[in-house]
Amino acid sequence: MKKVQKPYKIYLSPPHMAGEERRFIDEAFKANYIAPSGPQITGFEKDIQNYLNDRVKVACLNSGTSAIHLALKLVGVKKGDEVICQSNTFAATAFPILYQSAIPIFIDSETDTYNLSPRLLKKAIKERSEVGKKPAAIIAVHLYGMPFKVDEIKKIALDFKIPLIEDGAEALGSEYKGKKCGTFGDFSVISFNGNKIITTSAGGALVCRSEHAKNKTIQLATQANTGNNEYHHEEVGYNYRISNIAAAIGRGQMLSLDKFVQKRRSNFQNYKEGLKSIKEIKFLEEPEGFLSNRWLTTIITESQRIRNALMKFLSDKNIECRPMWKPLHLQPVFEDYPAYINGCSEQLSENGLCLPSGSNLNEADMDRIIKIIREFYSA
Ligand SMILES: *Cc1c(COP(=O)(O)O)cnc(C)c1O
Repeated sequence: MKKVQKPYKIYLSPPHMAGEERRFIDEAFKANYIAPSGPQITGFEKDIQNYLNDRVKVACLNSGTSAIHLALKLVGVKKGDEVICQSNTFAATAFPILYQSAIPIFIDSETDTYNLSPRLLKKAIKERSEVGKKPAAIIAVHLYGMPFKVDEIKKIALDFKIPLIEDGAEALGSEYKGKKCGTFGDFSVISFNGNKIITTSAGGALVCRSEHAKNKTIQLATQANTGNNEYHHEEVGYNYRISNIAAAIGRGQMLSLDKFVQKRRSNFQNYKEGLKSIKEIKFLEEPEGFLSNRWLTTIITESQRIRNALMKFLSDKNIECRPMWKPLHLQPVFEDYPAYINGCSEQLSENGLCLPSGSNLNEADMDRIIKIIREFYSA
């Protein structure tokens, strides 16, 4: 009897090695720089600086989470301070607030971008300030690669003189009014984790506005070494630097970044085109002036019940999908903290679904996924 084989698994956002990575890894091996220091790191930092624009200064770290933590330290967030944070995001955006023993204040999103609502942000800052708790920082996220409303959010941060930390972990390659995401905050964060648009297996970067801030970041990330090899430490340090090997992978990946952005954007277009007859499914369009790297293509279904059924239908056929992020104000670990809520992020997390979006998704994979979703809706 013929055995029926399940078709191979399609992942949500797998790593995509494009061929050049090995060359840089070989360089690192030849130089025996198997360490959290070395020329691949300096090279990778320069590559990112050139990509973003030549005025920013980039410090590479071992994760995006470490980058958020150091950003909070560098803007002076201390124990008991309140920090405003987008609720509609991955928990890693907010955990570092707790590392600093500070208090997250969660703010809901707006429907144009799924990101921080400027209206609620302003309301929260006013209310907290009135009770003598002016927020010490704002963390805004470009979720799934879609830029937040940069002009509006920056203006509020400037008007109230609150430092802005830009969580661009998912948004390398995205643009707002022709400028790259990762250049809009007082500090900006990028992630190179295994599922991001480029990966170094694990890694991240803190984008700084000055050479001084970059040097301070590197110092804190290397056990707050004073640099004279006397093991003299004046403050608490961290082991947060990236490894030279990971940076070598990153240099190879940077050569393909533009191609990856194009591919992920065309994934979105293909889904939209292939599913346009299904009126129940809604896509997030780019507002004028916004360019998303479409790290993940997300769809909104008509109800949580249907979303769950669709997710199961796809996973039974070996296609990995995920619900959209569960908002942080609903997470048990954050439930005691204040939140300014309008229902947007709760609705997205109930009805939203992330579709496979890798830059190595081929045409046959794409056809297979679209066919299955159409089958689900015609059933
Ligand atoms: C991935 C991610 C992070 C954390 O980055 P790591 O490199 O995994 O530590 C932070 N914020 C968002 C929005 C992310 O998606």
